[in-house]
Amino acid sequence: MRSPALTDLLRTLPEASVELVRRVLACADTRRQRVYLVGGPVRDWLMGRRLRDVDLTVELHKGEDATELAHRVSAGKLRVRVHERFGTVTLQGTGAALDLATVRREQYARDGALPTVEEGTLEEDLRRRDFSVNALAIPLSAAARARRVGIVDVTGGLEDLEARSLRILHARSFHDDPTRALRAARLAPRLGFTLSRHSRAALRAALRDGAFGAVSGDRLRREWVKLFGDAAGQGLDPARSLRLLHDWHVLGALEPGLELDGRAVTPLRRLGRALVEPPWPAGQRRVWVAGMAAWLAPLRAPLRRRVLARLAISGDQATRISEFPRRRDAWLRALERARGRGAVDLLLSGCDEESLLALHAWAPPAARRRIARWAVEDRGRRVPVTGDDLMAMGLTGPVLGRVLERLRVAWLDGSVRTREEALVLAHEISRRSRSKS
Ligand code: ATP
Repeated sequence: MRSPALTDLLRTLPEASVELVRRVLACADTRRQRVYLVGGPVRDWLMGRRLRDVDLTVELHKGEDATELAHRVSAGKLRVRVHERFGTVTLQGTGAALDLATVRREQYARDGALPTVEEGTLEEDLRRRDFSVNALAIPLSAAARARRVGIVDVTGGLEDLEARSLRILHARSFHDDPTRALRAARLAPRLGFTLSRHSRAALRAALRDGAFGAVSGDRLRREWVKLFGDAAGQGLDPARSLRLLHDWHVLGALEPGLELDGRAVTPLRRLGRALVEPPWPAGQRRVWVAGMAAWLAPLRAPLRRRVLARLAISGDQATRISEFPRRRDAWLRALERARGRGAVDLLLSGCDEESLLALHAWAPPAARRRIARWAVEDRGRRVPVTGDDLMAMGLTGPVLGRVLERLRVAWLDGSVRTREEALVLAHEISRRSRSKS
């Protein structure tokens, strides 16, 4: 298959990335260094999907490295971040980043460990990848553009793309890197692909050989962050990925007893949908905490804690996830008792964003509507009286806080509608609290 013309390709890139790509190509062309678009963006371009990020790989001459190329591209104007261990460099422009890698091969000292990386050829670079549809490359250099050379496909990726199949590139791929199973579960529903039969068999073998036990909690957690993050960006249902991992027996291999409990399915679907529409904008940074909380809620508390330990989740995030079921029940009971929008505000403003998302996902319809209305309409509303106004009235300390709180409740309930009415109420409350003390 012939490569697309560069202008057609650039048109499908995020606008902010186009300039970065042009600069890399200009610099690489002057030294006859060959540049390729590789991996996910090629797959997405072939499927006619919007490209989300740009991964470029360069073939350098002996003695050259990607950092040197990145600095030439940047000319002191862009941020250059070097990732020594993987031989990659990130170029940060305004509103866009671009990953630049050199062609490399990888070796796995033992199953599940991070690979050692060394210089290689383009073919080796493509063969080290997870699935054939992610092992395609489009040559972008001037010489290749002039000849419109074909898409590089050394693993049969184009055929698998046609067949909508995720196929690993060698039988021990999941042994080398079991996190590829999590990638498969993330990509399959997003792309509408299935894991090939041969890959399923290889996954079963890796599970049988205990390969998942060797993967660090950090690496596993990063995959969960991406899985829930993907849902956030695209309105996908994270339960579909979890269902695959459940059916493939991967969840139980991560922690005995871990599963997708049927009760979490609808809340998870709701979570995916809520993220692309108001009240929660897409791209929530810590949406994975909400996803984990919603997913693990029906499981027994000791199992939930073991899962958190296995995925090396600690601190606030762990507390939010492990305590979610108890807090959810308390919040829902309080919501049922809350009379008026002011009371709902008082309750929900104390709730962190991640727990709020999970709460919305789990709440029965009436409570869900109240949470959504608060998130969309009420939480951003400001009372037309400030702390400074109250200080000017001589209020200080805890009384001031209490008055502000009462004013806010009255404002959201609609019993106070103007700044003047709010000031009158403030006077009244402070007079009453003075006469009490
Ligand atoms: P997305 O569209 O979600 O960014 P992607 O396929 O671009 O998907 P990245 O995580 O950005 O995924 O990885 C870039 C490329 O690196 C992939 O397309 C794949 O070729 C390769 N890759 C990533 N993770 C692995 C892995 N664990 N094993 C082998 N290759 C991998």
